[in-house]
Amino acid sequence: MPPPAELQTGIQADEKRLRQILLNLLSNAIKFTEKGQVIFKIETLTKSASQRIRFQIEDTGIGIPSEKLEEIFLPFHQIGEQRVYEQGTGLGLAISRQLVNLMGRELQVKSIVGQGSVFWFEIDLIKVDIPLPTHLGLSKTETTPKPLKIPPKKELEALLEAAQLQTLTSIRACAKKIKALDTQFIPFISKIEQYLEKYQFEKLIEFIEFYLKGQSH
Ligand code: ADP
Repeated sequence: MPPPAELQTGIQADEKRLRQILLNLLSNAIKFTEKGQVIFKIETLTKSASQRIRFQIEDTGIGIPSEKLEEIFLPFHQIGEQRVYEQGTGLGLAISRQLVNLMGRELQVKSIVGQGSVFWFEIDLIKVDIPLPTHLGLSKTETTPKPLKIPPKKELEALLEAAQLQTLTSIRACAKKIKALDTQFIPFISKIEQYLEKYQFEKLIEFIEFYLKGQSH
């Protein structure tokens, strides 16, 4: 099926984690559905510098009783027929929920026993390409390159100081302030967030210094 026209051909995402979440939800949907269908939907919700996308996996499978809807997200919790859940570890949903949380969102579910389940989450993905210094080992996207909008020197200096002190709260506070200045800085801040997620402080410092050098005011 061709992708919806409004979707970008290139997005910037944590590919490994996104893949892990989607594979887990899709394989559960297939595993717990004997007849009917599994539908994977991707929908664009907003269009701006970042793009909010909803990923949704629907099935017409066995469903989950409402009183178990929280339990299934706990590690090693499996419900239903042993024959079916023996194929799994009971960890998939616990991990997926945590990964979605790390992206700042919630993994949601609705289900009706005997009719099926819907799992979905929304995340903000950056749709502009960012020309990055290649030595920082950042992945390339396939969109047309656009120059990265760099925050003012004063803000970069504050960000650098916080990064050097490795204080997550101050780095996040600076990032938030920069985002509030202008939405065009969102792609820049999203790179900062990627380094933070992996606690790559050295690369973060190198990244900020790289752009600080290029700032004349
Ligand atoms: P597992 O390895 O058992 O699939 P998960 O953490 O992915 O572990 O899922 C936990 C439990 O949640 C499953 O064992 C199953 O009982 C229930 N579950 C998950 N997805 C579905 C679904 N699409 N339909 C029905 N039940 C599901």
